[in-house]
Amino acid sequence: MDRMKYAIECRGVRAGYGRQMILEDVNLAIPEGDLLAILGPNGAGKSTFFKVLTGLHPLQAGEISLFGHPLNRLSSAERARLIAVVPQEVETPVAFSVAEIVLMGRTAILPRWTQPSAHDFQVVDRALVYTDVAGIKDRPFSDLSGGEKQRTIIAMALAQEPRLILMDEATSHLDINHRFEVMQIVERLNQESGVTVVMISHDLGLAADFCRRLVLFDHGRIAADGVPAAVLTDELLKSVYHCPIHVRQDSQTGTLNIQPARRPNTSRAGRGIRVHVVAGGGAGEELMRHLALAGYSFSAGVLNRGDSDTQIAETLGAELACEKPFSPIGPEAIQKALTLAQAAQVVVLTDVPFGPGNLPNLDILEDALRRGHPVLALAGIESRDYSPGRTASRRLEDLVKQGALICPTIADLIAHLPAASPSEKDNP
Ligand code: ADP
Ligand code: MG
Repeated sequence: MDRMKYAIECRGVRAGYGRQMILEDVNLAIPEGDLLAILGPNGAGKSTFFKVLTGLHPLQAGEISLFGHPLNRLSSAERARLIAVVPQEVETPVAFSVAEIVLMGRTAILPRWTQPSAHDFQVVDRALVYTDVAGIKDRPFSDLSGGEKQRTIIAMALAQEPRLILMDEATSHLDINHRFEVMQIVERLNQESGVTVVMISHDLGLAADFCRRLVLFDHGRIAADGVPAAVLTDELLKSVYHCPIHVRQDSQTGTLNIQPARRPNTSRAGRGIRVHVVAGGGAGEELMRHLALAGYSFSAGVLNRGDSDTQIAETLGAELACEKPFSPIGPEAIQKALTLAQAAQVVVLTDVPFGPGNLPNLDILEDALRRGHPVLALAGIESRDYSPGRTASRRLEDLVKQGALICPTIADLIAHLPAASPSEKDNP
């Protein structure tokens, strides 16, 4: 039997910057001729993945093969002949014409000092026609519209006659018409010449329209991989993008329609409501940002001074109960936090790790429940409980029996917070 041919095969890929891991165990096989989109929030590691694929960034573990060749055995010239990258935007300091730019794509893969042959010019001409820029080939690149520029960059990539095109948010700057047009060109190329295309996109709807397969990245891992209808589900998108998103399928065209489920006046939902946040070590950053955006006022603590949660909370104007850096929580700090929490309508616990030093923070939750105030906690304390005898997990279990609510995601937690009454929301 003929072995399935893959443009890209990744096994157990890990990569990062310094000691910070960005890609964690990425496994992905992309057959030759595929047209596939990579989705995911900012910072998910999508661009890093492209850097790793093109050999610009080293692997810490795992293996990558391109068209059956181990990446580390391909020379940079060989890689350049296989892969073309289309970036988000390109600036040229010199007033090159469209045709000159596209020709540069071709000459880049020729051995040094080689003059382009008649064949090379033919390839360039074909690329100009394919991307519909032949009519403007003598115009200076800098004078072009966004759509024309992007088509020119795609022509430049095509002139390399690559077997794989990687597009990193290549249509993000374009308006919807031009995005659609660029996607049509890419689709045609993929179908006619069989070039494999992998594109990073923020346009979930457009990706679903044009790609048979979507791969969703989240925190350096693949959170979902499959046909659009399997990847673009309310549940998955909510857990990855931390905001409620609704996917509807048009009954006539079958098109997937993706919309953030915006509540009216979302930015004021929390107006007049105060939340106390129990966090630490950076675990509270995302939640505090969302609280501030939704108009909640909040206090936080006990936090250690100098910790990144402390800095974020200060920046967002929260009142804080602090302890000295790297010190266990003492009686004074916990008293301050209890006072702050008593002035709040609700207490929330983020996904902070627990050790012996910060166990007193659970007193704040206990106290709130005793006073009949809601307590919401992010799920998963078991996996970050380093307290002796797993005290933190056991205490939280008790708190759940007393009415604390466990929320699987930040979006869920925000959705369960009390919201301002309509009259308060309307007040400026
Ligand atoms: P995406 O393309 O999905 O938005 P990136 O791969 O660009 O994500 O970035 C993933 C993470 O790696 C981010 O937290 C980013 O800050 C970090 N990062 C990216 N490039 C570098 C770099 N050169 N040095 C250090 N950290 C980086
Ligand atoms: Mg990126």
